[in-house]
Amino acid sequence: MLIRLFQQDSTYSVRAWRGLHFPVVFVNFSGSSPAKRPKYLANCRWPNGFKCPRCGNQRAYVMTRLWQCAGCRHQVSLTSGTILHNTRVSLVLWFWAAYLMTTDKRGISALLLQRQLELRRYETAWMMLHKLRRAMVNVAREPLYGEVEIDEAWIGGPQAGLRGSRQLKGRRAALVLVAVEKRGKASGRLRIAVIPDFKTTTLSAFIQQHIAPGSTIYTDALKSFTGLDNIGYRHIARAQPKTTELRKGAKSVVPLADRAIGNLQQWLIGTYHGVSRAQLQVYLDEFVFRHNRRNQPMAAFQTLLGLGTQQQSTAYSRIRGALDLAPTSAHG
Ligand SMILES: [Zn+2]
Repeated sequence: MLIRLFQQDSTYSVRAWRGLHFPVVFVNFSGSSPAKRPKYLANCRWPNGFKCPRCGNQRAYVMTRLWQCAGCRHQVSLTSGTILHNTRVSLVLWFWAAYLMTTDKRGISALLLQRQLELRRYETAWMMLHKLRRAMVNVAREPLYGEVEIDEAWIGGPQAGLRGSRQLKGRRAALVLVAVEKRGKASGRLRIAVIPDFKTTTLSAFIQQHIAPGSTIYTDALKSFTGLDNIGYRHIARAQPKTTELRKGAKSVVPLADRAIGNLQQWLIGTYHGVSRAQLQVYLDEFVFRHNRRNQPMAAFQTLLGLGTQQQSTAYSRIRGALDLAPTSAHG
């Protein structure tokens, strides 16, 4: 049996986003004639109406996929800057692929996508998934803030299940560092990175890259987590109970980070049956993307297709204002 990612997440739902309802627009798109599809793309790109990127004019002449500004005559392609641009794969297939990838919580393998879309070539399915994953990696990021738990783990090797055994090193295993926002008992946003070692400089660099100064950081008592108070963080380090004690029900000092690591390991095994070290970061990015967008499938869908770019500042201000956290606290 495959273990589902985020199986504890009972509040997962398809909700309206930016006034567009996910399944409705999708079904409309899929069933509509090719001539009407540009209208859907236009609604995605300019949810508040057309705005010329050059002069700001709000009137345009519509020429199928090309829109021309009525002010300065600047032409804007509906698909430029998206993965739909200059592709030989039909738009409908792209939409289906992004839809399947964002609605299946585990993700989808190239073989399954090929079967679902009845693609003649496996390579086409593989290429599409590859491109969609790249869109996940390129998401603009704001640092985590507030209360943040950090923990380290071995991933991808045969000893993946033996967290806490820092001496065990396998050639195929990778070290990762996990940071997760603590919102009461629930998890906020997540970051995971492959790291070369557990040195203080490595850990500090990760923290400065991913966590806003002034945040409170919770860690176990690993010696490398030192000096964080000197670089602008409040640091609370506590000794982690031994693995045997944790199995008997002792409380982890970083429970949310532990849960994220457990989910990550189950997901990697269940969906991809193990991942090579070289590719690991891409899959970590996919895992993080899925986690951070788990309550916004519509946003995830549009981000994958590169359609949501005009609205990113709004989306992230929602995150900063913690508006996106309300639904997640319900299942804490
Ligand atoms: Zn213009």
